[in-house]
Amino acid sequence: MNKFHGTGVYGAVAIGNVSLFKRQDTTVRRTKIENIDAELKRVAAAEEKAIAQLSEIYEKALAEVGETHAQIFEIHMMMIEDDDYNESIQNIIKTQSVNAEYAVAETSDIFSEMFAGMDDAYMQARATDVKDISNRIIACLLDNDETEKSTSEKMVICADDLAPSETVSLDKDKVLAFVTAFGSSNSHTAILARNMNIPAIIGAGEEFLRSISDGDKIIVDGHTGDIFVDPDNETVEKYLKKQSDDNRKKKLLQELKGKENVTLDGTKINIYANIGGVDGVGAVLQNDAGGIGLFRSEFLYLESEDFPTEEAQFTAYKKVLEGMAGKKVIIRTLDIGADKQVDYFNLDKEENPALGYRAIRICLTRPEIFKTQLRALLRASVFGNLGIMFPMITSVKELQDIKAVLEEVKKELKDDGLEYSENIEIGIMIETPAAAIISDKLAPMVDFFSVGTNDLTQYTLACDRQNAKLEPFIDTHHEAILRLIEMSAENAHKAGAWIGICGELAADTSLTETFLRMGIDELSVSAPFVLPLRDAVRKIDLRK
Ligand code: PEP
Ligand code: MG
Repeated sequence: MNKFHGTGVYGAVAIGNVSLFKRQDTTVRRTKIENIDAELKRVAAAEEKAIAQLSEIYEKALAEVGETHAQIFEIHMMMIEDDDYNESIQNIIKTQSVNAEYAVAETSDIFSEMFAGMDDAYMQARATDVKDISNRIIACLLDNDETEKSTSEKMVICADDLAPSETVSLDKDKVLAFVTAFGSSNSHTAILARNMNIPAIIGAGEEFLRSISDGDKIIVDGHTGDIFVDPDNETVEKYLKKQSDDNRKKKLLQELKGKENVTLDGTKINIYANIGGVDGVGAVLQNDAGGIGLFRSEFLYLESEDFPTEEAQFTAYKKVLEGMAGKKVIIRTLDIGADKQVDYFNLDKEENPALGYRAIRICLTRPEIFKTQLRALLRASVFGNLGIMFPMITSVKELQDIKAVLEEVKKELKDDGLEYSENIEIGIMIETPAAAIISDKLAPMVDFFSVGTNDLTQYTLACDRQNAKLEPFIDTHHEAILRLIEMSAENAHKAGAWIGICGELAADTSLTETFLRMGIDELSVSAPFVLPLRDAVRKIDLRK
């Protein structure tokens, strides 16, 4: 038995088998070849295999997400069969006597640059598709078949680190737990794990990854961060007991459903839940949250092959609003950039992505993207109780510009004869020290603030939330952060606005009393934390 240790980001116990997360390695080297015919045959066979894979994916997508979203895979199949594309690959092999992988990679670069340089936005977006199909063909040439490990058994996914886009693409029904060798507890991967309601540990270290293999028996304790590989019987027994204790506690918490979030002295607070997509609504309702305090709308973009259309977004927002049946739903506008990268945005590589071109900065400089989202949000607003929230605010000017775009979009909708609600609450995230410090100026311009403690911590303490090495320096209870929250709360209330917290700190029950004393009106947490938080609130007495 080997024991390892990391940081638990979701407290529960899992006992199962290891599945190593395999990232497709499509690194291509240029090698000289002797037999040109054989190389041409390799390409043809790889393309045939790629088309067979795509056809399977198309059928699955058709059944699960419908024709509109499935179509892209049909387009991919057609692109693989395109004459110009294939001629280019063949020419490179024949004229340079080089390997098929290199010829496909070269062709991919030529064609994607050509598409990216076109004027038409639709054609520009095809650049990503060319890269996609080429990577698939290269993977088939290298024989990296991602479909090889299909098993019905739930596994413990072990990886070096996972990008948010990789995490969302995992089949959630097959994940028993997560362990990553690197990563930090405020990263979006950790947040996703919490939302998925599964035990998760990050930062287990390089040695952990080196010492495990597919199929190894493993115990993951998300409470303590302990990991046991190849555990002895005594340890298995101990953790089976811990698992059943957890289940018993969970059952006890179920008794809190339907009860108020009220302290012993009668102070009330709203407890809402955070979601990343339409499928999160089920967990919000199951856990009896009073509303949705943060819908990270960027996940609609992360899960998509291209910019989600106004119609696709409208459908998603409408579903969430209808599902919540009149309860508050706060949808945050696109917060892409930094660790949440999407190819089709074609964002430049940056030295300091967290301090870079992200979130509202993209929206205000690419108004076509912003306006599409606002149109969809406004149109959906008639189906429920919507709040719209803007991320990464640092100045009054940004908020003025946002409001101007919002008014423009409202006018356009009116001109188009389309309905929207007049009762939408408008709010901003307080997640930069600048926003907290000028919260007296921002508060009169909004209905509410929502404190994003994940970014507020990163920017206040100058600690990159993605950098696992900085975990020892990240004091989430740092006085500077608490003072910024308190200052924002005072300024919100002075202006008649309400204030919530939607960062991970909202779920930290050791701070619940502090937040209540500051007058925080709402806490929004991953759905599985709603009932534990209600439990904590109901035990607090502010008269003491
Ligand atoms: C935050 O920064 O605290 C927040 C809630 O937003 P995100 O984690 O998506 O950056
Ligand atoms: Mg944030």
